Amino acid sequence: MSWLKNLRPGGKPEPEKPQQETYPLVARQAWCAVCDAYTTFTRVWRRAALMRKCPCCGMVFDDPELLYKRFQPACPRCREPLEQPNFDYGFCDRCGSKFELVEGAKPGLLPNKRQRDEMDKHGKSWSYS
Ligand SMILES: [Zn+2]
Ligand SMILES: [Zn+2]
Repeated sequence: MSWLKNLRPGGKPEPEKPQQETYPLVARQAWCAVCDAYTTFTRVWRRAALMRKCPCCGMVFDDPELLYKRFQPACPRCREPLEQPNFDYGFCDRCGSKFELVEGAKPGLLPNKRQRDEMDKHGKSWSYS
């Protein structure tokens, strides 16, 4: 039974390296619907992988794929909109709002907690476009 000795737990294949979730991009000018003006977006990034944790309330998603099957994926706890892989995102320098930056189109607002509460108060709904 000497071959059993080679099956130590340490001999398991290396666990997959966690995929880098986002890649930073260069700053750009974009339309901010909140400021109602062209502003600079210094913090801009491209999402590469699904979000596995809510950046707002910190909830860890057991099954992010399930959340992403929805048309507008959002955190089930606080409704933070989730970023989609292969899309660009950024924060407006002036007001700090988060936008999905689409080449050749108006950026879509991803409302933060405060903005969502504000919209609820006024009975407004939001969408990416
Ligand atoms: Zn959340
Ligand atoms: Zn702004």
